Amino acid sequence: MHTHHSALGLATAPSDPVTGAEIAKRRPVQPVTLLRPHAARRAARFFVEKFPGRSLYAVKANPSPDLLEILWEAGVSHYDVASIAEVRMVAKTLPQATLCFMHPVKAEEAIAEAYFEHGVRTFSLDTMEELEKIVWATKGATDLNLLVRIRVSSEHAKLSLASKFGAEPGEMRALLIAARQAADALGICFHVGSQAMTPAAYAEALERVRAAIVEAAVTVDIVDVGGGFPSVYPGMEPPPLEAYFDVIHKAYESLPISYSAELWCEPGRALCAEYASVLVRVEKRRGDQLYINDGAYGALFDAAHIGWRFPVKLVREGGSDVRPMPFSFYGPTCDDLDHMAGPFMLPGDVGAGDFIEIGMLGAYGCAMRTGFNGFGSDLRVVVDDEPMETLYAVEQERPAASNVVTL
Ligand SMILES: *Cc1c(COP(=O)(O)O)cnc(C)c1O
Repeated sequence: MHTHHSALGLATAPSDPVTGAEIAKRRPVQPVTLLRPHAARRAARFFVEKFPGRSLYAVKANPSPDLLEILWEAGVSHYDVASIAEVRMVAKTLPQATLCFMHPVKAEEAIAEAYFEHGVRTFSLDTMEELEKIVWATKGATDLNLLVRIRVSSEHAKLSLASKFGAEPGEMRALLIAARQAADALGICFHVGSQAMTPAAYAEALERVRAAIVEAAVTVDIVDVGGGFPSVYPGMEPPPLEAYFDVIHKAYESLPISYSAELWCEPGRALCAEYASVLVRVEKRRGDQLYINDGAYGALFDAAHIGWRFPVKLVREGGSDVRPMPFSFYGPTCDDLDHMAGPFMLPGDVGAGDFIEIGMLGAYGCAMRTGFNGFGSDLRVVVDDEPMETLYAVEQERPAASNVVTL
């Protein structure tokens, strides 16, 4: 990991603490991803120890092999994968891991390769056609865990996942009965939408699960509450994760399922949002607009396209005591869409040549980068200071609220 440091000319011994501010002192021309393994490890330990069941990591949130190894070492043994490329990559990186193929619409070839070459036994589905495809592609296997995905409301989530996947409640009875015939273990799964801001989202979804089980009168072995666990962003301060776990546990305990049934969840965002931030340079200022060297085609897709706000701080020698004001960002490409409205609160004297750390980009941000227009950077440095926000530290460890770092 420490080989990354040399890319920026940092001659640190492996034991020296490295901070984002020290990286900024090197005045990197390209955006630099600051990786915080300790933050990912802390999130994983939290889920492993406190979620009242099994926590699968949803790989699409950040498929970096370094992160997969951190999560594995912290005790995450099961991985939610959605494409054959993710199956191959996780199988190669973590040969002992259990893979669960949780995309409800899969290619027959992908199912066959996953089953016969990578040992995948867990598949999700939301139609009879997909069930038949899984049975056919696995040559009538008798050791399948089949999870039927039910459509639930996304009304409490910041990002809806309600319209694309999931069987309607009225379709569940026939699907559950048919899947029961083909499955060794039968499950029900759902996704309440990403960044669910209240635990009630899970309670309401589990009510739908209850109704489906009662109506189908089948034995259910796995209840998978999916992802959607939130992280912290400006203007989005969710309740503590324990509140989510409590609500889920209570609702799960009262379901009409066998004593040996298992409860699963599939967090993506909550496990890796704190893992990475990006250090960018301001190339130009025009009024309250800052032209920076990363953007919509880099790690800031969500900031551009769905107006997501990320925490920011100025990282400057001598700091600034000018009062913060709202800025918007332009990314480096020649495309008007490469615009992040924010608002991002930074000291009023920020300008060209300054460095800004944009926090909480470990989930989705870093995973969605492109090299469009010749921009994009794979400079990565491991740092050991605290992420800009955290859901996991004890109160006194919380970083002080400030949007300036003095070098
Ligand atoms: C994206 C996804 C997840 C992870 O969602 P988060 O909101 O990042 O926790 C989990 N399960 C499935 C099936 C997904 O598609």
